[in-house]
This record gives sequence, structure tokens and C-alpha cells, in this order.
Amino acid sequence: MSQPENYESTQLYKIRHSLAHVMAQAVLEMFPNGKVAIGPPIEDGFYYDFDLPRALTSDDLAAIEKRMRNIVKQRHTFAFRELSADAAKKLFVDQPYKIELIEGLEAGGLDDNGEPLPEDQKPVITTYKHDTFEDLCKGPHVEDLGKINPKSFRLLSVAGAYWRGDEKRAQLQRIYGTAWENSQELQDYLHKLAEAKKRDHRKLGKELDLFSSDSDEIGNGLILWHPKGALMRHLIEEFYRNEHLKNGYDLVSTPHIGRGKLWQTSGHLDFYKEGMYSSMEIDEQDYYLKPMNCPFHIMVYKNSKRSYRELPMRYSEWGTVYRYERSGTLHGLLRVRGFTQDDAHHFVRPDQLDEEIDFTLKFSVHMLRSFGFEDIQAYLSTQPAEKSVGAAADWRKAESALEASLKRSGLSYELDAGGGAFYGPKIDLKIKDAIGRAWQLSTIQVDFNLPERFDMTFIGQDGQEHRPFMVHRALLGSLERFFGILVEHYAGAFPVWLAPVQAILIPIADRHIEYANKVCDSLKEAGIRAEVDDGGDRMGNKIRKAQGQKIPYMLVVGDKEMDAEEVAVRLRNGEDLGPKSVAAFSEIALQAVADKLA
Ligand SMILES: [Zn+2]
Ligand SMILES: [Zn+2]
Repeated sequence: MSQPENYESTQLYKIRHSLAHVMAQAVLEMFPNGKVAIGPPIEDGFYYDFDLPRALTSDDLAAIEKRMRNIVKQRHTFAFRELSADAAKKLFVDQPYKIELIEGLEAGGLDDNGEPLPEDQKPVITTYKHDTFEDLCKGPHVEDLGKINPKSFRLLSVAGAYWRGDEKRAQLQRIYGTAWENSQELQDYLHKLAEAKKRDHRKLGKELDLFSSDSDEIGNGLILWHPKGALMRHLIEEFYRNEHLKNGYDLVSTPHIGRGKLWQTSGHLDFYKEGMYSSMEIDEQDYYLKPMNCPFHIMVYKNSKRSYRELPMRYSEWGTVYRYERSGTLHGLLRVRGFTQDDAHHFVRPDQLDEEIDFTLKFSVHMLRSFGFEDIQAYLSTQPAEKSVGAAADWRKAESALEASLKRSGLSYELDAGGGAFYGPKIDLKIKDAIGRAWQLSTIQVDFNLPERFDMTFIGQDGQEHRPFMVHRALLGSLERFFGILVEHYAGAFPVWLAPVQAILIPIADRHIEYANKVCDSLKEAGIRAEVDDGGDRMGNKIRKAQGQKIPYMLVVGDKEMDAEEVAVRLRNGEDLGPKSVAAFSEIALQAVADKLA
């Protein structure tokens, strides 16, 4: 999730930046021979990297935090100065990491966090000092530490981090903290963190037996879908394909590898090579795993001459792609190396663009809502200031089509002027999940580049060849990532239509098992995914187990239910619907499926 562009000028940024200094001071007070590396503000907080004689414990964190509060209460101010490289090296003589940063500044090209500088910025060496601690820094900080509420920050964790992110360099200890303007904001944030932990899709994925990965045996960032997860995946794909067929899409299906020539024409080998895996040789030709589906869809289009009458054409595919991601960035299902995109490409006549974007936006919102995401925020990114391809008139036309469509849609949107890709403007849609986190899911991207590179045409009404507009469109993004978000949004308690097991029959005693099996069969016949828990547990344990598995309906059967040919219906939230005939229960469950209810 990205910060608003002006994060650096906000009070929160200053608070977090200042606290990184305060934390470094506190740590050096406890470990006078400790070495400090870098400590920037980040989203929701700050960190600092240290090289210390021993591993930090949670007791240490508490002690550091206490010292930090004392330092903050002393209301120190930050004093700024500019130094020559020699003076800076003298000042930081005991701090080898700072010396390396100063040398980097001296040689040019890096800032005081070791990040590359924009070309036009000449590095100057500056420091800020509060109380006893002076740090290489450009600011900004709070005017004085009195501006920080001592009850508004918390140290969260320690993690290993390599100096400059390089696995061959020293391993440091990174302390993460979070900081806010007041204690209420801190409490809210900590509550959200605890909620997020409970909902972690990696934890729930294991508990609900949905998927796994195994970096040793299978490889990093590759996912195994277990039967329940694969069933849900099937349900998502099936619903999704049917909606596409109902809405004027064609389905296509394309290979996992393609010749180097194709990726040369598409430009991927020039501009996207670091995201692609090395080539493999087949019959003395080089082939690559596909990082994207677009070139294949274009080749389907180009397979015959297209007439203006055929447009718009919409090709849709669950396309599995492979992209290189650094191992440190892989995270559960959210960032993987092999994933399936819900990809589509629209080929349209320039005069159809307005209508097509309207359609695409409406369809996107419909699909997101079908999965229970109601809170949708749109972002419009326009032509970048530097280099871009495509005629200015086309850019204006596409940008105004996107914006007009956003206005008609009634979605609230923000403009990211100049934030578009070099090949066209786009709309991004972000959803908010159940605990208020924003996730970017959908992208509607106009492309002036690939139709050119592949020399795509259609025959117009005038009998001449014309260039179509192309729109890339992914609604859910990657199925893996979307699934992870879905798990966290629902905390595993999926809507009935997606729940792998929708109803579980719980016989009270062994003599009720036969009846339970009979009911189970008739539910299955009605199209409800039902199971019988015929294990040896007591009823209370069976109910707890079913609740743990977040099964929507628990159907308890004992003597009474057997005699009346009923089931006693309980919901996973504990609500008791009482006895129902099997037919009445089926109706409730099937209605919930049809309405996509949670
Ligand atoms: Zn600073
Ligand atoms: Zn594409």
C-alpha cells in the first residue's frame, strides 16, 4: 500500500522520523558500543537497524521503549548542521556504517539512507542532533520532542535485516516501532494489528487446510492448492467465467511458454527481463515462461483479418504467469512467483472507447461486489511527464474517456496526474477489507504501445486499415493474492456460496449416524456441500470443531430430530435457528448461496 505523496510533509512523518532518532539514542545508552545503521520512517511507523553484541529480547524492547519515553518527556529540540566529509568522518569515527554512508555521499549518488539520489541532486552532508545523539540526516523532524505524545508510540518487534539489503553483508537487528499523534490512534492501530494477526491467511490457510507451500521441496513462492482451497478456486473461476460469457467476453486459452521472438516483439525482453526467468532451449530456439498473457491474446486477434463490425472484442483467460520476485519479498499468497491472473484484453475502435470503458468499469464493480467488497475507491493515472509512446491526441482522448466514465460511475476517485505507465493511462480500483485495509485489485489499462508493436489492425467502414485501441483489464489481479485477501476479509468464514463445506451433520449418538447419512445424501442431491461428523467426539466438541472450520450450518440430529424427520440448525456465529424440516433447511441454504450471503 502506498503512502500519499505528501507523507514527508505530514506531522506523522516527522513524529516517526524523530522517534527513530530517539530509539537510536536509547539503544546506544543501553549498548554504548552498539553500531547504528539506518532508521527511516515507514508506513505506520519507523525502524532502525543496529549491530549489537547480542540478540535483543522482548524485555529489551520494553526497556528501550521506557528510555524513549523519558527522552521524549525532556522535550529536546533538533539542531541542524552541514559538515564537510572529513568532519563527518571524524564525528562518526566509531560508527562504520555511517562512515560507509558518508563515503557514499562523498562519491555521490546515494542519500543518507543509502538510496540512489536523483541525478540533479548534489549530496551535502547534514546532521541533526538532539540531546546526546547526532545522526546523519536531512530531516524533517518535529520542532521539539514535546510535540510527541509519550503514550502514542510502541515498539513492535525485532527482525533480522541485512546491511543495505545485501545477503552477503552484515546481518543487523531491525527494531520496528509504530507511532501516532495520540494514544487513541495508537490503540486503534494496535487493535487493527491484532485483528490482522487473527486473520492472517497463512495461519488460516493451514487451519482450514486450504493451501500450502514448501520452499525446500517445491520452491519459493509456489503454491499447492489443497482440495478445499482448490474447490473454492473452482467456484470462483466458474462464477467468473459465467459472468464473462454473459457479458460479451470470449474465453481464450494460451500456452505457458512462448518463443523469445514473441517477447522481443512485445518488448518484454527489453523492458521486463528482470521479471522473467531464464530461457530454455527447444529445437535450438529460445523459449520463455510467460510473465504476461497479452502477446498471446494479440496473436489470437491477429490470426484473422478483423473488421470494424467485430469490435469490440473481449478475450478473457485465467492465465497462469511466472514472474521473478526476490525471495525476501515473497509473502504467503500475497506475493508469489507463479500465479493465475484473471486477465482480459479488449480490442476496440477509437470511437467505441467511451462506451467500452463505461462497460468495463461497471462490470468490474459488479464483480468486486459479488465477492462482498462494497467499499471501492478509484484512482486515475494520466500521461507521465517524461517519456511515453502514443499520440498526444490519443492520450487526451483516452484520459477523458476514463475520467468521464469515472464521473458517470458515481465512484469516488483520485487523480494521480502523471502517474500513468509510458504506454497509456489507467484506472485502478482499491477495495477496503473488513478491518479497513485498502487493497488494490482491479486495473483498467489503455495501451498505445502493443497495438503498434504488433501492427494490429482492423478494416474500417472506409475499407482502410485502422489501428484498434487495446485495454488490459484484470479485476481480481492474481487469483492467489485475491484468495489471500478473501481469507483475511472474511477471517475464513466465507460466504455460503464459497464455503468448501456448507453444512455439517452432527449426530448426537451412534444410533443417529444412519439418519444423519440419509439427510446428508438428500442435501447433496439438492446441491448443498454437506458432510457427516461421525467421529467419536462428544456433541460439544463436534460443534466447536465445526465452528473452528467456520462451516456455515451445523445440523444437530438426535432422537427428537430423527422422529420428526428434522434437523436442529445452528449457525457458525452461535445463532440457533431451531428445528427445521430438511426441505426447509435446503431452501434457506440455497437462498443464501443464490444471494451470495455471508
Ligand atoms: Zn532524521
Ligand atoms: Zn495485458
